[in-house]
Amino acid sequence: FSMDKPVRVRFAPSPTGPLHIGGVRTALYNYLFAKKHKGTFLLRLEDTDQTRFVPGAEDYIVEALAWCGIEIDEGIGASAQAKHAPYRQSERKPMYRQYADQLLESGHAYIAFDTSEELEAMRERLKAAGVPSPQYNAITRSTMNNSLSLSAEEVQRRLDAGDPYVIRIKMPRNHEVRFKDSIRGWVLVNTNNMDDKVLFKSDGMPTYHLANVVDDHLMEVTHVIRGEEWLPSAPLHVLLYEFLGWEMPEFAHLPLILKPDGNGKLSKRDGDRLGFPVFPLDWKNPETGEVSSGYRESGYFPEAVLNILSLLGWNPGSDQELLSKDELIEKFSLERVNKAGARFDPDKAKWFNQQYLRAKSDEELAALAMPDLAAKGFAGDEAKLAKICGLLKERAVFVRDIVDQADFFISAPVEYDAKTVKKKWKENSANYLGELKLSLSELITFDSESCENVFKTCMEKLEIGFGQLGPAFRLALTGQGAGPSLFDICAILGKDEVLNRIDLAIEKLG
Ligand code: GLU
Repeated sequence: FSMDKPVRVRFAPSPTGPLHIGGVRTALYNYLFAKKHKGTFLLRLEDTDQTRFVPGAEDYIVEALAWCGIEIDEGIGASAQAKHAPYRQSERKPMYRQYADQLLESGHAYIAFDTSEELEAMRERLKAAGVPSPQYNAITRSTMNNSLSLSAEEVQRRLDAGDPYVIRIKMPRNHEVRFKDSIRGWVLVNTNNMDDKVLFKSDGMPTYHLANVVDDHLMEVTHVIRGEEWLPSAPLHVLLYEFLGWEMPEFAHLPLILKPDGNGKLSKRDGDRLGFPVFPLDWKNPETGEVSSGYRESGYFPEAVLNILSLLGWNPGSDQELLSKDELIEKFSLERVNKAGARFDPDKAKWFNQQYLRAKSDEELAALAMPDLAAKGFAGDEAKLAKICGLLKERAVFVRDIVDQADFFISAPVEYDAKTVKKKWKENSANYLGELKLSLSELITFDSESCENVFKTCMEKLEIGFGQLGPAFRLALTGQGAGPSLFDICAILGKDEVLNRIDLAIEKLG
């Protein structure tokens, strides 16, 4: 496509609830595309359907994008730029009517007075006559109450009487609508398969279709990148651009995100059922109070979430899986977005988080884990915690795992893992540990290496193998059967604590 105009893309959610991760991915692809082409990413709120408005949804959307690191250049949630304000369609209400009027004047739209009962009756009638999905269209419109079927006087009389009406598009007969989608290629639809959609509602609000096209035009949007569920609406939008005499943006319809088993679209219920979040942030349903879990509260790093979402439907053309935001911006292109749906893999999502956790420095992890650990009674400083994090991070997917596994650094074990005690605590264990304690107590430099040397010497002296001393020692220090290096643990606990814990275990386990 030609790049003569500055790239402007928009994310245009409706505030009907929390943003699904599919929505976040749409926002992300728009954002990456904008950044790649030094363009503008704008956020517009499509709230023309007041009946579906959910309080809190707008704030949720803005907060979710901010958390993910998807910065908004213009519109809702952007700091400065307001070239095309307002960006909430409800606040743009007075701007749409003139375009509906333009379509009425050019004969591409008409006024329809039908009540919901009359519409229902039409559908019943057609169903009875064997039409599987009855529509208000070029064939049926002549049987309904509209400005094409009624006399001019009757139309005027009804308007004067204040009868409610809508404005519908007059779908031309047998016209081939074609446009090129950047991801799907050529899309062809015959207007005989399209209905006379409502463009303007009786409450004075445009419908999504009209508002979407008018705003994309006025806001100088160059590329419409959105979910596949909007593909069926695209031919109607293409016609509207044509009828209004406007240049069309490029269209790109993104593939669906599929359930882990690949059967159908990923839904909130899959998350509940399989235990993974499908929302970026926790969401509390304002009506039911029900809470759906989010990636943020589940302990995911925003960089990991971005990386996960980036690969749901796109690839960089290589095997590289770990991609920073800057790399994504550099490598992103619509040409590499797939047509086929992308299966969501919750285990892979965890793997990504684990990779990002491992890449963090021990100090960063310490800062993240400190609040929860301090609340659990950890009294050490950040430097000590950094060492602990360094030890525990290999086994952690989330910072929470480090917090959960750090108990034995806070206090001596109160319980000893029963299974390990049964299998590994033998008659001689107390004696052997006593020997070990004696040797350790003589150490002056109590670091990991020295502790290991003492431990080895002790085994040799006692003529025993690791299995007779190691597990008992671990039980004494941690109460557990497995964990990170014993000697690293020793170095962090310090000599006094290690000697105390040996005494304690001997006392308790005998
Ligand atoms: N308001 C639509 C939505 O909620 C936007 C569709 C579009 O991007 O055109 O997804």
